[in-house]
Amino acid sequence: MARILDGKAVQQQILDELKPRIARLAAVRRPPGLAAILVGDNPASQLYVASKVKTCRELGMHSEELRLPDSVTTDELLAHIEHFNQRGDIDGILVQMPLPKHVDSRAVLLAVRPDKDVDGFHPFNVGQLVANAPAPRACTPAGVMELLKRSEIPIAGAEAVIVGRSDIVGKPMALMLLHAHATVTVCHSKTRDLPAVCRRADILVAAMGRPAFITAEFIRPGAVVVDVGINRISDRAEAERIARGAPAKLAAFEKNGSVLVGDVHPGDMAAVAGAYTPVPGGVGPLTIAMLMANTVECAERRLA
Ligand code: NDP
Repeated sequence: MARILDGKAVQQQILDELKPRIARLAAVRRPPGLAAILVGDNPASQLYVASKVKTCRELGMHSEELRLPDSVTTDELLAHIEHFNQRGDIDGILVQMPLPKHVDSRAVLLAVRPDKDVDGFHPFNVGQLVANAPAPRACTPAGVMELLKRSEIPIAGAEAVIVGRSDIVGKPMALMLLHAHATVTVCHSKTRDLPAVCRRADILVAAMGRPAFITAEFIRPGAVVVDVGINRISDRAEAERIARGAPAKLAAFEKNGSVLVGDVHPGDMAAVAGAYTPVPGGVGPLTIAMLMANTVECAERRLA
């Protein structure tokens, strides 16, 4: 029976460890503060931001949500970021992605002060990651590392294969696993014979945005599989393909008219992997936990 790596349980551990640090900051100076900027009315983005703000509040942190219309210009957005850059009570600024096409995302990313960049996307912080120096780290891969370490998955010397090379997941994931002494391979859409490369993995990380793409033939029996993908399926035939060996997925589809799946086929993953992260309840909760951890660390650096 494959072991399920429970992201919610690890999220709770991380949040519990943050609570006394937040209480200390609040008692001595002030609570850590996070500003979340949300542009437009993308329902998924609204949900993510609401959940981040709620977690902040539950932890006793200060949080603010700034909602801006789809029509906002790059200059207007930059002015709002600069306002939060200057605010003494704000330690972390997050700009929820994706932004509307007409907004210059690169300029936005560069505008956030690196010491308030709790998403870890600023080139300064990316450079710090490359150099393995302390700085806010991209939350999703940092959460995967916490999950692996706290689940006592051996990383040093392991063959790690990552499918996906995005700036927010694949690339930082590769660097973090490399710093933890894994032998790392990064795959993408031009990789030849992807199943064979994936089968080399002791630790396989899927971050592609392709629902249930990774099937049994990609997974070495007993491997640790980390499924970063979050895809909503509303097509019945697709839901039936994905529900093979994972009947709960079809039941969820029947109930809600759609179902969340990762990039790995859930039935195949449970049948072949030695340990795996479920979707939902695997990597997602850790992304939020690491955002909170980054915000507390930024506050501690500022207030120390
Ligand atoms: P991107 O779309 O930015 O990147 C996808 C990557 O997958 C690209 O590098 C692409 O290759 C590669 N890829 C796509 N199709 C294939 C294929 N057929 N074979 C091999 N490689 C392929 O996605 P993100 O990194 O932003 O997100 C990935 C997934 O993770 C999504 O489902 C997203 O929703 C989820 N996610 C989950 C988070 C969480 O908190 N759990 C947080 C962030 C993302 P190429 O570069 O060649 O195009």
